[in-house]
Amino acid sequence: MSNELLNKVNKRRTFAIISHPDAGKTTITEQMLLFGGVIRSAGTVKARKSGHYATSDWMEIEKQRGISVTSSVMQFEYQGKRINILDTPGHEDFSEDTYRTLMAVDSAVMVIDSAKGIEPQTKKLFKVVKQRGIPIFTFMNKLDRDGRPPLDLIAELEDLLGIEGVAMNWPIGSGQTLQGLYDIAHNQVEMYRKDGPDRFLPLDKDGKLPASEPFSQNPQFQDTLGEIDLIKEAGNQFDLQKIAQGDQTPVFFGSALTNFGVETFLQSFVKMAPAPAGHKVNDTEDLAPDNEEFSGFVFKIQANMNPHHRDRIAFVRIGSGEFKKGLDVTLARTGKPIRLNNATEFMSSERMQVSDAVAGDIVGLYDTGNFQIGDSIYAGKHKVVYPPLPEFTPELFVRVTAKNVMKQKSFHKGMVQLVQEGAIQLYQNYQTDEYILGAVGQLQFEVFKFRMKNEYNSDVEMTNIGHRVARWIDPEQLDPAMANSRNLLVKDRYGQPLFLFENQFAERFFKDKYPDVKLTEKL
Ligand code: GDP
Repeated sequence: MSNELLNKVNKRRTFAIISHPDAGKTTITEQMLLFGGVIRSAGTVKARKSGHYATSDWMEIEKQRGISVTSSVMQFEYQGKRINILDTPGHEDFSEDTYRTLMAVDSAVMVIDSAKGIEPQTKKLFKVVKQRGIPIFTFMNKLDRDGRPPLDLIAELEDLLGIEGVAMNWPIGSGQTLQGLYDIAHNQVEMYRKDGPDRFLPLDKDGKLPASEPFSQNPQFQDTLGEIDLIKEAGNQFDLQKIAQGDQTPVFFGSALTNFGVETFLQSFVKMAPAPAGHKVNDTEDLAPDNEEFSGFVFKIQANMNPHHRDRIAFVRIGSGEFKKGLDVTLARTGKPIRLNNATEFMSSERMQVSDAVAGDIVGLYDTGNFQIGDSIYAGKHKVVYPPLPEFTPELFVRVTAKNVMKQKSFHKGMVQLVQEGAIQLYQNYQTDEYILGAVGQLQFEVFKFRMKNEYNSDVEMTNIGHRVARWIDPEQLDPAMANSRNLLVKDRYGQPLFLFENQFAERFFKDKYPDVKLTEKL
């Protein structure tokens, strides 16, 4: 049995794709789903993204793909592996949500627009992935367009992100002159705009084409040979150890839109990407993924897309064991027993039965309010607590009240649920208990307002407090006299006191005045 479980776990590849908006994340995801046989035509994922669809279209898309209601997790089989792609929203909807999703993956794919190089959003997301020390694979996209020189792009990885790039293939020409890819890893040339096995030209042991092959005389190919010599001599040496720790990234070139280089990328990725690793639980314990007892943690909670049902879906990354419908687990935070009955609908399809979910997979549990972000659940008697998910100290704050005082009940309900979902941070004025919301980005407030109205029928009034520097204080040291107009005193949802300083000057002024008081950036 244990071997069987281990075999299953070792087939899992769970990763997130990170990119700056418009670099091609959706397009490459779609190509991968096509290779996995999950969708039948291009444009399917696009339709989802643009949001221009009726509910019926939505359901249709979901059925066709046989995946989750919310599509935050996409799963498919490829070359005997079970692949889980976790969506990380970029752009405006970028929020803490994305950071937490990155806690649930074993590797990441970074898509870069080869004309633009590394852009701000890539940089931010990269930082979070890097902290996790997981492998990062790079896809330099849009090779069919005139881009920056490949050598520059690789140098930029090191200069801007501090990660070594090691080329797995190399473009032959680019944009209008794109001829193909020199595939270093497989010692062959892959020709552009050719189908079938014909598109591969094998290279000899010196990495050259035989003189009888007409393409060997191609000027772009000749240039590429020169560059290959250069990178073989002066470039970074492929180092599996460094890749495993996220200190080196294998770089693949290609064009997602013309489906060029994506399949070879996927093949290499499946070979090189790690299977689910063990977790540190209960502070010091190593928990192996093939431990027989099921356990996992909630990394995301999302309201159901269907406005007629108020239920939510808790996304659980399985850390050990196997998920079975009707499994009895304990919620570590409260000790409450929960029977996991309501998961099948979420991922049910002919292709994927949730009963088949093991460590590395994601299950979606219908939730009626049991779960909070970061919760651990476990089967059996041995308590398992996963490390806390990173919390990001908000920088933007608003005061919030219900417009209609008669509707306090729905206001409170919506507030509690959205806070549990991790959509926004909630604070209360230490003296007056008035509600204050904190966010990392402005959009979080807008989404909050919209959802309060839409899902809880509650109109909210927000008054901007603006940027603030949040600093926690030891309750023992707290004296209410410390509060003034430049340092709003509030408590977080655990009741812990913190000051929201108007700016860094106000914080410094406070520190000078109370040199013995310790302020911390995070709880
Ligand atoms: P995302 O925002 O990262 O998900 O990017 P999308 O996948 O939506 O792509 C953004 C735009 O770039 C779309 O218009 C795509 O058609 C286009 N695009 C994606 N990949 C390529 C590519 O390889 N070549 C070219 N020329 N355009 C691409």
